[in-house]
Order: sequence, then structure tokens, then C-alpha cells
Amino acid sequence: MRRPLIAAILIGLYGAAPAAHAQTPAEASLAAHPPAVEATTQLPRGVSPTHYAIEVTPHAERMTFDGKARIDLEVRQPTDRIVLQAIDMKFIDSALATPGGKTLVPKVSVDADAQTATFAFDAPLAPGRYTLSTGYSGVIGTQANGLFALDYQTDAGRKRALFTQFENSDARRFIPSWDEPSFKATFDLTVNAPAGDLVVGNMPAASTRDIGKGMKQVVFRTTPKMSTYLLFMAVGDFDRSTIRGENGTEIGVIAQRGKAEQARYALEASRDVLREYNDYFGVPYPLPKLDNIAAPGRSQFFSAMENWGAIFTFEYSILLDPAISNVSDQQRAFTVAAHEIAHQWFGDLVTMAWWDDLWLNEGFATWMEGRTTRKLHPEWDIDGVDAAYTSRGAMGRDAYATTHPVVQHVETVEQASQAFDGITYGKGSAVIGMLEDYVGADAWREGVRSYIRKHSYGNAVTDDLWREIDKAAPGKELMQVAHDFTLQPGVPLIKASASCEAGATKVALEQGEYTVDRPGKAPLRWHVPVSVRGGDGSVVRVLVDGLANVTLPGCGAPLVVNAGQRGYYRTLYAPAQFKALGDGFAKLPVVDQLGVMLDASALAQTGLQPESDLLDLADKVPLDASPDLWQLVAGVLEGIDDLYKGQPERQATFRTYALSRLSPKFEQLGWESRDGDSSTVKDLRTSLIGTLSAMGDAKVIAEARRRFAASASDPAAMPPDLRRTVLGIVAYNADAATWDQLHAMARSEQSSMIRDQYYGLLARAKDKALAQRALDMALTDEPGATNGAGMISAVSWEHPDMAFDFAVAHREQVDKLVDTTSRARYYPGLGSGANDLAMVDKIRAFADKYIAPTSRRSAETAIAAIQTRIKLRAQQLPQIDAWLQRKG
Ligand SMILES: [Zn+2]
Repeated sequence: MRRPLIAAILIGLYGAAPAAHAQTPAEASLAAHPPAVEATTQLPRGVSPTHYAIEVTPHAERMTFDGKARIDLEVRQPTDRIVLQAIDMKFIDSALATPGGKTLVPKVSVDADAQTATFAFDAPLAPGRYTLSTGYSGVIGTQANGLFALDYQTDAGRKRALFTQFENSDARRFIPSWDEPSFKATFDLTVNAPAGDLVVGNMPAASTRDIGKGMKQVVFRTTPKMSTYLLFMAVGDFDRSTIRGENGTEIGVIAQRGKAEQARYALEASRDVLREYNDYFGVPYPLPKLDNIAAPGRSQFFSAMENWGAIFTFEYSILLDPAISNVSDQQRAFTVAAHEIAHQWFGDLVTMAWWDDLWLNEGFATWMEGRTTRKLHPEWDIDGVDAAYTSRGAMGRDAYATTHPVVQHVETVEQASQAFDGITYGKGSAVIGMLEDYVGADAWREGVRSYIRKHSYGNAVTDDLWREIDKAAPGKELMQVAHDFTLQPGVPLIKASASCEAGATKVALEQGEYTVDRPGKAPLRWHVPVSVRGGDGSVVRVLVDGLANVTLPGCGAPLVVNAGQRGYYRTLYAPAQFKALGDGFAKLPVVDQLGVMLDASALAQTGLQPESDLLDLADKVPLDASPDLWQLVAGVLEGIDDLYKGQPERQATFRTYALSRLSPKFEQLGWESRDGDSSTVKDLRTSLIGTLSAMGDAKVIAEARRRFAASASDPAAMPPDLRRTVLGIVAYNADAATWDQLHAMARSEQSSMIRDQYYGLLARAKDKALAQRALDMALTDEPGATNGAGMISAVSWEHPDMAFDFAVAHREQVDKLVDTTSRARYYPGLGSGANDLAMVDKIRAFADKYIAPTSRRSAETAIAAIQTRIKLRAQQLPQIDAWLQRKG
């Protein structure tokens, strides 16, 4: 899956695919040698499925569906009951065919809390192969769990399309099943649907026939062996366009009628990415087709899902509308596709045995999306930003006591859901980047290839990957380093000091731990791969376990620890070394400029480094520095501005300085894009406009308003590159008349994607009365069932208390707007931006009442964030005031 905003750091061989029912060699060997690892399970393991034949008839108007399931299964230990997973289902006509040809009729009972159905028999079943058949009916939801409906507006009126979303544990809402990743089986899906609709499954359709009354029956080809959470179905008024990829794979995009053309960019990107991955993984993509299905609306939880052969992506992450989309939308469409397609191998072909190892899926796909974007789109120039920010983003979370190891034990469905977080994605990806750098890209790829070959169509655990990498990179202590960074939480701190002896630089490295809310605790220990670059460009690498010393030729030039920024640790330089770095800052590679400044900022927050070190660095960045560095300077200043919230006089002094720092750079860029502007320049332009307006720059706000007003008659006043930024400023600073105008635009808009944007904007108002109107609207049918939760969330960015109090006061209504498994993190998230300790009590009271004790990590994290922010403000602001005073 891809989380929303994860990259928001700124953010046929038809014949070669496994034929129906035919076992590939890998499957055959797997059957002979079951996985060595016994995975965690919530089901008895004495019975397991081998094949599901499912026939489904959705009743979209009634929001229900009927199903028939025939499940081939193997009883390995005598038992008088078959227990599988099911939610919100009713069963009829259940029967079990025995190996001897008899038919047994079970007693069926369901346990709603355990999410199971039990088929009980009078006498124990002997080991052997059986077929369980049952009729059932289920529910179509309005949020992305199980089978769900999305309603949307079109020129031809309101429409409803159906989709499925099963990760992590919602296939059980669609099929009575062994809904755990290690119970892999093959699937035959048959769907009865309106004759005019397009029906999509993981595999191509094998046959379609008319069944009368305006209905057709689509039978899909048998899937390869796979986990239940990867099964997919969609039914709707869709268009599909296709191109032929490498090895004959049919690559397709599917969107609401008339919109498939807007997915052409994603279609072509998918072809390029697939070619790259066929090569990288060394095992060709195994299905005959790969579709990517665009769906209107959104989820609080994810933006896209890697169903095998049928990727699901919300429209805003895949469609490019020439009227509104710009280069950052293009980048998102590409990176989302690169992420989900990586899962077709890492996740779909080889699947983690249990959610403990979810990071194998998500860390890997996140790393792969960055790698592939860097490689296939060098013109986007994301190298520096990717290396410096992926790790720092995760460290921001990992430095709190409420963090967890990359590999973590998961017991419940809700815990599995909460595992989709910044550690699993961001730290997972950063650790992979560090280890690849440590063993070398060729050895790393060799290990990955042999891991994929070995575990195809099966399940694996983290050590299975390390074993293969270790074989490809002998003598590197890979296991030790990998275990240190994945089995224990936290961020290493490397303290660096240097002296000049006999014409050489002696560098002393000492390891500690970087922590935000546990100062004084005994630090954990890691084997940290550290690289140090001297002034002459030579790099020395050392594995630091405690203390290490390295020697570099020459003296005097600035040292860079973590050169290239691939290491997962923060660096604290001794004052003399930091001063040298500051003096030579302009000459450092951009990636190291970013890394040094990000670490200085984090270390200032915890008092390990004076705030003035960071401010001095930011103060000296010249006009001609890289756009990425200016982007960071703007981010640092806006972050500090936020600390002054509620203290207008002190904030005004700071703003005078910050605006004087940023305005000249913005004046140099101007409002309008110029021919030849790189994507980083375009990004910087909109970032500066956003930052300047957030700091109250009256000229910038006035110009945004002018452009918005002019755009009614002149679309060029708000070109795609500026559109989102200008609308954001107008919405944030809206008065009632402007808000009403945006509201009218939302109501009359026929494009679901643009309409969703407008409703999001209505929730951004700084004005409290307008924010309240947005909250009230979020609970109505007007914005659409999947927009309400996002609107409340958007209100919380400016008004955390209002949004949290409102959601809690209307909890039953709000629950309906949030995917069930996201609730435990949704509510605490609303309050997490608060600047008041009262919110801590409110979140705690909410958690005590409504969140299971095993699912409170998000609540604890939100609480820690508030407590820390308040503490840091008290420590940092006086230092910043003093620095400003010195500046005059
Ligand atoms: Zn993913």
C-alpha cells in the first residue's frame, strides 16, 4: 500500500505466466517443502485452503452482495470443525464434500468479535482433501474496507462504482477465507454484473456471457498462488486503455468513463517501470496483465494498493488533468506507480509470513520507488532530497519513546493496521538504502534476486532476505548490522571530533543515541556503517561499535561524516569541526548541505547543539545556492515561525527577519514559470509563495487573491503550476464571501478530482467561524462519503482543538467516515498539533474510552508530540530571540 503523502518530503509472455491450475516449479517445490517458519496465526493451522472458486453478485443499489464459495482445502490434523475468517456475513446451504465422495452438512456459527465463522461436524474429519461450499451474503461499505462503493458526479449525473480493498485484513468481508498472508491459494473469480459495466479482476477475463435481465457473467482466469489480501474486483462505468509491455505483458489503466486518457502518463510510466523491474528482480513479471484502476475519492489511510495484476489508485495520485496538474502531480503519479509495481514482486510474488515483517513489503517498495525515480527521471534531480530526507523523516518519529523496531510483533488486526507507519515505510526504506550502500549495489541486487527466486509464490521472514544478501556480500557482518537496525528501535548518534597530527586528520567517532524525550537513558548500541569524507574528497568507511578512529590525509578542510547521507544516524560535530563545516558550507555537495542542516536542526531541538549554529548556517545561504537548499531554509524558518504561535509580538520580530531572508530569493524567481525552469525551481517557487504567505507577507497574499479573482475570466492567471498554491492561500485567508465562492465552485464542479480538492480547501480557513462551517459540512452528504474525514483533518491543521472536540462530540457520525482500522490513529491525529497540555488529557480520555489498550500507540505518539513541542518551545525561543537581537 502507499500511504498518502509518504513522499511529501517537501512529501506475455502470456505463455510464461503460470497457466490456470498449472503449478510453477516454485509452487511445486513449496508444496514439497512447506515454509520453515511457522507464522503467527489467529486460525487453527490444521486446515488450510488450496483453491477458492468464488461467484459474486453485487447489488450496488441495496449496498449488499450475494456470494457462492467453493473452497478446496486440506485437513492435516483430525478435527471436527473448520474455522475461517468472515465479517458481516450470513451463510446458507453449506456443505462439505469428503474425499470418499460423501456430503456432510455442517452447523455454522459466527463469532463477530473474533471475526470468524465455524463449520462444525458431528464427527472428526480425517486428514485428506475436502471441498467446502457455501452460499453467503455480505455488505457493501462506503469506506475502503472490503467491498465498497464510491459515488461520484459526472456530466451524465451521479454514478456509483464498486471496488475492493483488503489489506490488511478485510478479504474476510468479501469471501469466507483464511485471511492471513501465509495461507496462499489460487482463486477463480466469477462476477455477475450489469451488462454495460466493466468488471476488473486480478487476471484477464476467460469468458463473458449474457445471463439476461441486462446482466452478464464474467469469469476470470485462475490467479497464481497468492495471499487473500491481494485479491481484487471492481465494477463500474469504466474506460480501459492498454499498451503492450516487455515480454508481451498487457499494461492497462482503467478510469471512470472519459478519464482513461488522463491516466496515459501513468500507463507509460508503468511500462517503463515494469521493464526496469523485470531486469532488477531477475524474475519476469508473472501475470499476463497489469492494470492500474483509478478511483474517485480518498481514504485516510492509503492512496494506492498493490493488488496483484490490478493496482488500485485514488484519482488524485494517478490522473493528470491538463487544466490543473503540474510537475509535482506527475512525480506523484510516477512514484506511486513505481511503489505499487515494486510490490508485484516484493509483497505479491514473495509475501511476508505475518504482519511482523510488513516492513519487507513497505520499506522495500518505498526504497524501490526512490531508486527507480532517480534512475528513470534524472531530470527531476531528487537524489539529494531523497537521500537526506527519507532517513530524517523517519528519525523524527524514531527518536520518541513511543517508537518501535522495524520488525515488530503484531497480534491483532488493529495492530497490523497501525504498523503502516513512518517507521515501517521510512525507516525501512532508509535502512535498506544504508545497507545497499554498505554492501554495494551489485551485491545487494544479487541477494535480492536470489531471495525472490527462492521464495516465489511463498512467504518469507526478514532473516530470509538477510541470508541471501549475506551470501552475496560475504565478510560484511551484514546480519549483525541489519539486526541492530531492524530488531531494536531508535536513532544512533555519531559524535565526531578531529585533530591534526603529523599532517593528517585524526577523526574520533563516538556512538550514542539521539532521543527527543528520553534524555539520560542508557543509549542502545548499533554497528553503524559510517563514512567520513576529508577535504581532499577521499572517503574512509568504518563500522562503528562504540568508538572508532579514522585517519584522513591532510589537515584543515571540513570533514563530512555520513558523506552522501545514506547512513541512518545523526551526526554531532565538535564545535571546531562544525565551524569549519559552516565556513566551507557553500562548497559541500547539496546532499551533504541538506544532511548537515537537518541534523543541526534536530540537535538544536534537543539542546545538543546551540540554535545559533542552525541559524548561522541558514543565514549564510547565498542567493545562487541550490533550490533544494533554499527549500530547506524556507522550511526551517517556517518551522521556527510555528514555534511563535500565540506570541504575536515576538513572532513579528522573527517574521521581519525571515521575510527579509526569503523575499530576495522569491523576487529572483518571480511568480511565473520560465522556460527551462527545472522541477526543483518550480517546487521552490511554490514553496516560497506558501511560506511567505503563511508568515503574513501582505504583497504575496494580495497577489494570490488577485490571481484567483482574475482566473474567472483569464485561466492563465492561475496556471497549473500555481493553481494549488494560490487556491491554498485564498482558502486559508478566506472571508465569508470568498468561502461562499469556493463553496459554489465545489458544488458546480463536475470533475470528481477537482471537486474533492475544493471541499478540502473549504476546510483550510484560518477564520474560526468558517472552519466551523466546514466541520458541519463534513458530516453531511454533500462533500461525498470519502471527503468528510479529510475535511475534519484539514481543519485540524489550523484548529486542532476545534477539530478534535468536534470529532469526539460527533463520534458515531465520524466513525462512519473513517476506515474501521484507521480510527485508532485518526482521532489522536486530529489533536496532535495542539499547543496546549489540556489536549493531552483529552486524547488520553478518548483513548481510555474508545481505543483498545493494544492499539494506543498512535494516541501515545500524539501525546508525546504535544508534550515535547511545548517543552521545546520553552527551551528554543529564548535562544532564537537572543540570536535575532545579536543580528540586530
Ligand atoms: Zn506499499
